[in-house]
Amino acid sequence: MPNCPKCGNKESLPTRTFSVIVEPAKGERGMTERRVGMYTCSNCGTKFPTVISKQRYLIVAEEQLKSIQEELGSVKKGNEDLNTKVRGMAEQQREMENSMEKSAKENEVRRLKVKLAELEEFVTYLRKEKGELEQKASKIR
Ligand SMILES: [Zn+2]
Repeated sequence: MPNCPKCGNKESLPTRTFSVIVEPAKGERGMTERRVGMYTCSNCGTKFPTVISKQRYLIVAEEQLKSIQEELGSVKKGNEDLNTKVRGMAEQQREMENSMEKSAKENEVRRLKVKLAELEEFVTYLRKEKGELEQKASKIR
């Protein structure tokens, strides 16, 4: 909200707006479009302009713009290819994790089988021991 240059009153709405194209100053490039609002002070009636917004335009040769757009297009394409690759790698990682999990399970099964064999052996030994003890016991009685 601009202030009235005479009495400092704040004005919120311009009475009219227009655009002016400003040529580049020395050493500057491109044109500047200024959106200007004309305000009338509701307090003292002073009319004053204020720049609402600025937009700079660079003059670019059509061929240059085209080549920039083409470059942008190929960058986008490259980006898409990269995204596809990343997705593929994530998929591979998932597969590797699955197969690692599977082989971990297989190792666990192998380990349990060994343990089972040991236990079976121990049970056999205990049975034998029990048999011998029963024989001894029967002799004592
Ligand atoms: Zn005023």
